[in-house]
Amino acid sequence: MIYICLAKQCHFLFIGDASIQTCPDCGKKSIRAATAAERMEFFRRQTELMHTERRSG
Ligand SMILES: [Zn+2]
Repeated sequence: MIYICLAKQCHFLFIGDASIQTCPDCGKKSIRAATAAERMEFFRRQTELMHTERRSG
């Protein structure tokens, strides 16, 4: 399950199980399940990261 943090200036997207209640990045409890669009953004970022790493090498 993918979650998004709603804290200002965080908006961290992360994978967690149903028991997760806080953002692993900022520690706030303002998280909710990501929407389909947000999940797509999450995977797009993962792909971009991989491409960036390859280019910079
Ligand atoms: Zn956060």
